[in-house]
Amino acid sequence: MVRRRCFTIASALSLFLCVATAVLWARSYKRCDELGFVLINHKHRDKAIFLDSGLGQLGARIEMGELDDEYVPGLSYSSRPPNPRLPATTAFWARHNFSATKLKFDWMTWRRVGLPHWVVAGVMAILPTVSLRRYLKTRSQSGHCPHCRYDLTGNASGICPECGSAIKAS
Ligand SMILES: [Zn+2]
Repeated sequence: MVRRRCFTIASALSLFLCVATAVLWARSYKRCDELGFVLINHKHRDKAIFLDSGLGQLGARIEMGELDDEYVPGLSYSSRPPNPRLPATTAFWARHNFSATKLKFDWMTWRRVGLPHWVVAGVMAILPTVSLRRYLKTRSQSGHCPHCRYDLTGNASGICPECGSAIKAS
């Protein structure tokens, strides 16, 4: 079943991203990492995309307009000690590492969205959790193919007609 295989692959990918986010989360209090991609068009239409991780927040930033010479075209990666925190804000969302900022200048627009690592890790954990629950449910269901869950009631061939797996006679 193709759909089921896609779901399994998506789950595995999601689980990987969940673990990677957790690792970045732990690391974010020691190092601030940033991955960037800069596209210079020289017609006031430069673009730069940055993904960053620092102090418990994951951020995505897009800068569009006329970028100065400090922007190196292409892919870049940098890592530095995290900046000291800004003076404590009282805003609930900001204190919990949520942020959305838009700055508009004559020559460029700057947008950034920030989310706490745990939110991203939590969302990435949904699919693997569903997958695991399905798997456990399948295992406990007798009379079904353990590989594709096809109903094997009355099947005496010892082979699943849906996916062709050999099955133990019950
Ligand atoms: Zn099967």
